[in-house]
Amino acid sequence: KNKDPLAKFFIPAVIMGAGGATISSFATWGIIPYSHWAFRGIEVGMLLEMSLLSISLGFNFKLTQEARISAESNALHDPLTNLYNRRAFSQLVHPSWELGKRNNNPMSIMLMDLDWFKRINDQFGHAVGDKVLEGVAKEIKSRIRDSDIPLRWGGEEFLIFLPNTNSVQAKQLAEDLRAKIENIKIDNIGNVTMSIGVVSATPDQIDLEQLVNLADEALYSAKEQGRNTVIVMTYSKPTANERRYS
Ligand code: GH3
Ligand code: MG
Ligand code: MG
Repeated sequence: KNKDPLAKFFIPAVIMGAGGATISSFATWGIIPYSHWAFRGIEVGMLLEMSLLSISLGFNFKLTQEARISAESNALHDPLTNLYNRRAFSQLVHPSWELGKRNNNPMSIMLMDLDWFKRINDQFGHAVGDKVLEGVAKEIKSRIRDSDIPLRWGGEEFLIFLPNTNSVQAKQLAEDLRAKIENIKIDNIGNVTMSIGVVSATPDQIDLEQLVNLADEALYSAKEQGRNTVIVMTYSKPTANERRYS
């Protein structure tokens, strides 16, 4: 009655068990004609009841597993853009970074922030702003590799972790994305632009948190330099008393 999916197992199981017991009892009391099968009704009923309950147990296990997997996935995804959320950084990016450490492959981080996004919200409304975020996320998803990890880093900020990607390749992708996003058409709101900070390094040079901080600096420079631009920072060997990036 409450649409419990397990009811379709429990109810027939109980009916079969009780039905078998009733037939056995009636046959024993002489209410119905005695036969071998009627006498054994309780055993047959119980057997069917147990079988159905076993199936329901398996089914329940499957439902619980599905619910757990879906909850885990929801916890790592941003519902608006369907990209990973910030929480996924430690769960997905860290392991990918650690894996890359073995071969010391170059890895890149791209940090992207929509330009003047507040104005879009103010001028056209929050719903249109949301559509822009969805459009940008779609563009990101369509251009990256399966091994890349795209996250919605904050409100109108996105981060893409690019394993096995050097600064030339990362810059190319960033330029492509910047140009694509400039041409997104949503509700006649005109051009949407994005500033992008890119930084690349090998894991022996830097740790992951430093890489993110550098991407943040690169993004800040992109904003400083007039927005709708890509700034790439590459690692340069540390001098005697400081680490320098240019
Ligand atoms: P800048 O070029 O310096 O980045 O300017 P900006 O206006 O993009 O930057 P600011 O940080 O001032 O504004 C970000 C805006 O993003 C403010 C906030 O209302 C909007 N925002 C954050 N999350 C969402 C969201 O989920 N949906 C919508 N529609 N807007 C959002
Ligand atoms: Mg921002
Ligand atoms: Mg912004």
